[in-house]
Amino acid sequence: MLELGTDYESAIKKDQQYLWHNITPYNEAAPPMIAATGSGSWVTDTNGQRYMDGMSGLWCVNVGYGRKELAEAAYEQLLQLPYFPLTQSHMPAIALAEKLNNWLGDDYVIFFSNSGSEANEAAFKIARQYQQQIGQHYRHKFISRYRGYHGSSMGALAATGQAQRKYKYEPLGGGFLHVAPPDSYRRPAGQTIEEFNLQCAQAIEDMIIWEGVETIAAVIMEPVITGGGIIIPHQVYMDRVQEICRTHGVLLIIDEVICGFGRSGQKFGHHNFGVKPDIVTMAKGLTSGYLPLSATAVRKDIYEAFKDKTDDYGHFRHVNTFGGNPAACALALRNLEVIEQENLIERARLLGQRLHTGLLDIVDHPLIGDIRSFGLVTGVELVEDKTSKKPASLDIVKSIIAGCKSKGLIIGKNGDTVAGYNNVLTFAPPLSSTDEDLEFLMTTFKHVMSEH
Ligand code: PLP
Repeated sequence: MLELGTDYESAIKKDQQYLWHNITPYNEAAPPMIAATGSGSWVTDTNGQRYMDGMSGLWCVNVGYGRKELAEAAYEQLLQLPYFPLTQSHMPAIALAEKLNNWLGDDYVIFFSNSGSEANEAAFKIARQYQQQIGQHYRHKFISRYRGYHGSSMGALAATGQAQRKYKYEPLGGGFLHVAPPDSYRRPAGQTIEEFNLQCAQAIEDMIIWEGVETIAAVIMEPVITGGGIIIPHQVYMDRVQEICRTHGVLLIIDEVICGFGRSGQKFGHHNFGVKPDIVTMAKGLTSGYLPLSATAVRKDIYEAFKDKTDDYGHFRHVNTFGGNPAACALALRNLEVIEQENLIERARLLGQRLHTGLLDIVDHPLIGDIRSFGLVTGVELVEDKTSKKPASLDIVKSIIAGCKSKGLIIGKNGDTVAGYNNVLTFAPPLSSTDEDLEFLMTTFKHVMSEH
């Protein structure tokens, strides 16, 4: 095990020689931090330098670092039964599936995988096959939103609406269409937020009709676009999207990979809007990032269309070797218990309100165009000019992120190089953050902004 005090210079040389980092461009001038330990909302690097993690890793360490009870749950399960495929069954998966049903508050059947991308891939396959099983043979297309992110695999990336992540890898999976998201900050002058949101929802119905109702399998969306710059829909948008899907026999897939597990101030993001999705995908906060695990929750009556099929193709011909690993399930169960026992969902709501109000102190800063919050997720959209809303340059964004890092605060997805989404800085600290942690985050950010 690497310990504190590991010689950084030799470690970084090996890092550069052997390790290919996620998404971050290689930059010798700004080498990565090498994390060694974590406790609560803080991580310590191999040099002994502490940082508050204002992003919960990649939006996932909901209960904070260093939870012994989570490690013990996995350890005990590894000793008892480390692996068994879910072509059959085991108790941790059964118990977790039941628990997720309780959390969802509706009747769902759970398919386990390992990552958010895989959970979405399973959702796409289930949606397509379901439509076929009920005789809707041409319904193969999916509609998602620009700016939304749904994963890195070819289908999930095809659903993603961020060109910069995609174009080097195209052609991706076929049949994925995109509409504009309800980015109310940038709505046309003279339109109310409600009018604009209804217009954005209408774009989905228009697309369904133009493409041919009988060709659309499902709509997929996050309750709030998170990685794409914190785009929060108005209630009328979610109501209308649900109505459109029901009217046209289109399934509604809600991607809760980030918004789930208390992050939104409710158990799931969609609970804030009262919509009832047909399929819910989840990952990240399910285990607070301690082990890989994801889930695709499918409404019971959709599952029924796959059950007891006697022909060779009626069942769901999908397998995931590691999905629903017993130790990951046991750990996830313990993670959900911690969230319940420590009232972390209420805590997320409270901290989110405080963070939002605290940051409003600097809303007049010339670089700040908009501050948007949903539960314990806040986006600060940086602009060059408040009237034209021209996005701030990435150099400024990077400089602010680096400034925070130099003062012990990690924000932005990759610490010091890439912001949440271009000109939108994002904050998503652990739900278990203390009052002092939140104060540190706000004070540090305000200090850095005063230098820009
Ligand atoms: N969906 C959303 C909303 C995400 O933010 C992500 C990852 O950031 C994914 C899906 C993909 O998850 P994973 O990276 O675990 O495949």
